[in-house]
Amino acid sequence: MAGRGVGHYHSHMLDVATHSAPRSPVDGRDGEAFEILPGDAAGGLVLLCDHASNHVPPEYGALGLPPSEFGRHIAYDIGAEALTRGLAARFGIPAALSRFSRLLIDPNRGLDDPTLIMKLSDGAVVPGNARIDAAERERRIARFYRPYDDAVLSLIEAGLATGRVPTILSVHSFTPIWRGTPRPWHAGVLWDADPRFARPLIDGLAADPAMVIGDNEPYLGALKGDTLYRHATRRGIAHALLEVRQDLIADPAGVAEWVERVAKVLVDLDLGTSPHGIEHFGSLTGPVA
Ligand SMILES: [Zn+2]
Repeated sequence: MAGRGVGHYHSHMLDVATHSAPRSPVDGRDGEAFEILPGDAAGGLVLLCDHASNHVPPEYGALGLPPSEFGRHIAYDIGAEALTRGLAARFGIPAALSRFSRLLIDPNRGLDDPTLIMKLSDGAVVPGNARIDAAERERRIARFYRPYDDAVLSLIEAGLATGRVPTILSVHSFTPIWRGTPRPWHAGVLWDADPRFARPLIDGLAADPAMVIGDNEPYLGALKGDTLYRHATRRGIAHALLEVRQDLIADPAGVAEWVERVAKVLVDLDLGTSPHGIEHFGSLTGPVA
């Protein structure tokens, strides 16, 4: 049943849809900086996981940080990779995952963003980033940032080539306590100006009264140059960024629960049969360029 569109899952129309829907398989492939999970490019949804990995190649000497820092959210989004893999497998849709720590370079930032390479992250000074020169910055862009960005682009292009514009879901996680204050949300949906996917995703998740779902919490989704700005806002492609509290997806049972929770909402949105078209909503950050 691999390759059915999102929305066909558990549908009474499953057989009809499975036999009539066009198929356009994306092959799995990987490089040092990215992994593409195989799936159906015509499924109506592609998944991104910008902060999947805490990996730093040995020649970077752990950026001068103690090993304990690499178990924290500053190095990667705990649980986000497993949630992405679970959703991709669930629907047979493709996904792009990074294979390097955001401490090296953050793929979810524009190249002119001052936090592209963090010198300080949640109280931790990053010695290996303190004095890097322009050449080292360019090396990291070429070795990590660009190949991942190209992988994201290739997934979207594969979707567009099927004639069915893919909606983009970017999967992240956030730390339950920030600067000493517990965060109240179980999950949040971040978005900028395009409400097509974000609004119903928020409503769908919040339909469970046990869930506290943030609307542009714990962060504002409008960030010029971030992954969704570059690949979705600029191109008029419907999108949302899902942030799940990391302690809720820190083990396989939690991941399984959240795969089910998110999958149920995605099925209700019927992205497989009724995907969004190209439509430009602009950005709260200013003119889109
Ligand atoms: Zn993240």
